[in-house]
Amino acid sequence: MYSDQGEYAVSIDQSKGLQVGIWVAYSLKIEDARHLPASGIPCLKHRCVKCCLETRMPLSNLDLKRILKLGYRLEYFAVKTKEGSRLRNSSGRCVFLQGEGCEIYPHRPAGCRLYPLVYDETLKRSVIDSICPYSHEFRVQRADVQRLKSLIGEICNLERTEG
Ligand code: SF4
Repeated sequence: MYSDQGEYAVSIDQSKGLQVGIWVAYSLKIEDARHLPASGIPCLKHRCVKCCLETRMPLSNLDLKRILKLGYRLEYFAVKTKEGSRLRNSSGRCVFLQGEGCEIYPHRPAGCRLYPLVYDETLKRSVIDSICPYSHEFRVQRADVQRLKSLIGEICNLERTEG
C-alpha cells in the first residue's frame, strides 16, 4: 500500500510543496477508503454475499466448537471431506446465509473473517482473491497474514490428526 502511495505521489508531482500536499491527501483517502477484512465493511456496504455462494470454506476446531455452542448440529452446517470439515451449502448457498446476510455473523468462521485474504498454493503466499468484486476496498495488515498462516497450520494439523 505504501509503495502505491509513493508511486502515485511521485508520478504527479512537479514541486516539493505540492508533493507533500498530495501525499497527505492521498494517504488519507486510502486510509478512509480501505477496511480490514475482519471488519466486513465492504461486504455489508455493497450487500455482497458472493463468497457465501458455493462456499468451500474450511472449518477449524475452534470454528466447529464455537458454532456448536450456538446450538447448531454438526451435520447441519459442516461436511466432512478428505481435507477436513467445510461449511455446508444448501441449494448452492452457505447454510448460514439467510435472506441477505449471515445469520451467525458475529460468530462466523475465521476463514470468513479473513476473506478475501487467501493462501495461493501456486504462489506460496497470501493474496487477495480477485474473485471478490470489492477486493480493492480491503486493506490487509501483517497481523491478518499471520492469522491466516496460523489458521492454515491449525487446519492442516487437524487433517493430519483425523486422517
Ligand atoms: S466476495 Fe468480497 S465483498 Fe463479497 S461478501 Fe465476500 S469478501 Fe465481502
